[in-house]
Amino acid sequence: MSISETLRQQVSAEAGHCCEYCRTCRRIIGMPLVIDHIIPQVKGGGDERENLAAACYRCNEFKGAKTENIDPATTTLVPLFNPRSHTWKTHFVWANGGIHLIGLTPIGRATVIALRMNNEYIVESRRLWVAMNWYPPLD
Ligand SMILES: [Zn+2]
Repeated sequence: MSISETLRQQVSAEAGHCCEYCRTCRRIIGMPLVIDHIIPQVKGGGDERENLAAACYRCNEFKGAKTENIDPATTTLVPLFNPRSHTWKTHFVWANGGIHLIGLTPIGRATVIALRMNNEYIVESRRLWVAMNWYPPLD
């Protein structure tokens, strides 16, 4: 199976052309978003709309075939954030004016770590975006 260009455009447009995990937007990074299989294909995930999310290249690469991770606060294995069934604001909040992403729940904390949402490279970029008043996203 493959995902049609129409469906790719639909997924990205419905996400406002921003990553559904870290909220990085296409217009800031100058790269198209990629289509993430929420349940990876290697774990049986399909190409249906409910299993697809718009993601930045970074999040998609770090997520890879992961579907769960350890929450550092409770040391329990929990599912990663699912953009189709979870609400972003329930699980994440911006800190330091939009430079860092903080997980509010076990799912949020586990996802921040698994997708390296605060690694040195993205934090360096976010510092610039915040300084330019491009960040954090308003919603
Ligand atoms: Zn991302």
